Parts: sequence; structure tokens; C-alpha cells
Amino acid sequence: MNMKEILGILPDMESGWVWLAGAGPGDPGLLSLLTVKAMQQADVVVYDALVSQDILDFLNPEITLEFAGKRGGRPSLSQADISDRLVVLAREDKKVLRLKGGDPFIFGRGGEEARHLVKENIPFRVVPGITAGIGGLACAGIPLTDRHTNSVVTFLTGHGRDGGLSEDIDWAALAKSSPVIVVYMALGRVGIICQKLMACGRRPDEPLAIVSKATTPEQDVLETTLGDAEKDLASRMLKAPAMIILGETVKLRAGLDWQGAMKGKILTADIPLPRGK
Ligand code: SAH
Repeated sequence: MNMKEILGILPDMESGWVWLAGAGPGDPGLLSLLTVKAMQQADVVVYDALVSQDILDFLNPEITLEFAGKRGGRPSLSQADISDRLVVLAREDKKVLRLKGGDPFIFGRGGEEARHLVKENIPFRVVPGITAGIGGLACAGIPLTDRHTNSVVTFLTGHGRDGGLSEDIDWAALAKSSPVIVVYMALGRVGIICQKLMACGRRPDEPLAIVSKATTPEQDVLETTLGDAEKDLASRMLKAPAMIILGETVKLRAGLDWQGAMKGKILTADIPLPRGK
């Protein structure tokens, strides 16, 4: 089967529809086939700051590009403005691709946009994407689960509705119940997040990684511990977007950093883990 045949059996975009699609964490190779198809067929693409330039470069020049994100200095549209814009474009009978970083429903307000479309009677499709906290960490050589380390993983955001940490996070319950914790939007709040987890009983020597620009050529990983993360981050320039991962599974990177191995890092399969090898 060739690519044209594969794309041919997938649904077509229709005029007046909005496709809310995930673009993945950055590497164009991680786009889904449905998103690629939408990128070929859309009249207009409304994209977020997290959608990588490498991906936008694939779009045909005749497609209208509208930026709808927050990026250094430029005035940003409010969420209501973005949702309204999608409705206006759909009512102009355009094929509208709303392209968001990662997965549209993971800390990406895709659900809010979809609810607005429902309210306004605009037909839509949701195209999932690879979320940074899963695919991005795999590219960094950190498995989210491993039967020798954890059977539970929790995703949270370091950026609640009012800009601070979310009020609804029960830190004590989280610290106790989730051996692996992934924090999105955490770069500016590493200190307070680590303090809260240690205050709730997590060990300062627990492995922690901060993964920046995962899956892109600029991917950068700081391996540290819960107790040293803030200090170590201060001496390393890590760029946004970045996420934190806490837990014994971070140790597995010594054996699974496949990108590092391509640059000469020696991987080890012999890693001491809490539940044996
Ligand atoms: N919908 C997106 C997340 C949006 S929230 C998804 O599913 O991935 C934005 C946060 O995602 C960033 O602050 C960062 O924590 C994380 N993120 C997104 N892309 C990333 C990347 N390439 N590398 C590291 N973190 C990333």
C-alpha cells in the first residue's frame, strides 16, 4: 500500500467543519496520518505556539495560516476569541484545521473549543495527537511505566486556571499514591512543586528529570533528584516547553537513552530498581 492509498481511505475534510487535531510534541514524524491528511486538505489552519515550525513548513503555501497562541511579546488571543474565530471560519464554509501541540485534549483546552463548537452547531472531528508526557518522554528514553518501577502514573499541570498551581491537587494523596508523576507547564514552578512533594513525604534523592523540547533537534534533558532539581535547573539553561518527570523510572534512562546512544553514550542494561531487574 502506498501513502496515497492510505490517505485515500481516511475521511476527507468537509467545508464548514472544524478538525481539532493534535500535532504531537514536535517531530513531524510523530504526526498522525489523519492530521497529515487534514494538513493537505484544510483551507485554513489555526495553530498554537507549540506546533513546531518544521510541521508548519509542510503546509502548502496557499493555505491560510492563523496564529492563535501565546508567544513572546505578541498580543495573544483570549480563549473566547479563538473559539469564536473557529465558528466564524466554519460559517464561511471553510475547511478549518485547528492544530494544537501534543494531544488536543491534554492540557490544551481542546475540550473547551469543542464545547463551543457544539454550542454553535458546528460539526467537528477530534484527531488525537501524541502527548508530550508520553511520546516526548519515550523519545527522551524514559518509559512511563515499567513493571519493575511503577504500575501507576499521574499527569498534572503546573499551571492552574488562575496561573498558579491548581487548587484541586491533593499533594498528600498524590505523593502517596503515584510513584511516577509527570508535570506539564512546570518550568517556572519547579521549586515549589518539589517542595510540596517533599513536604508530603517524597524522598529528596528520588530521581527526577526535566525534559525540554522533547522530540525536536533541540531536545535537552536534565537528570537530577527531587531535592536538587531547583538548584540544578538554575545552573542549566533549559528552554520551554519542558516537563518534569519524577520517579524511579527516570533511572531507566541510563539504559534507554537511544538518542544519546546514537551520539556515543554507552547504555547499560544493569540498573538497580526497587522491584528487581
Ligand atoms: N496538549 C499538549 C500539552 C499542552 S500544555 C500535549 O498533549 O502535549 C504545554 C506543556 O506541554 C508545556 O508547558 C510542556 O510542559 C509540555 N510540552 C509540550 N510539548 C513539549 C515538548 N516538545 N517537550 C517538553 N514538554 C512539552
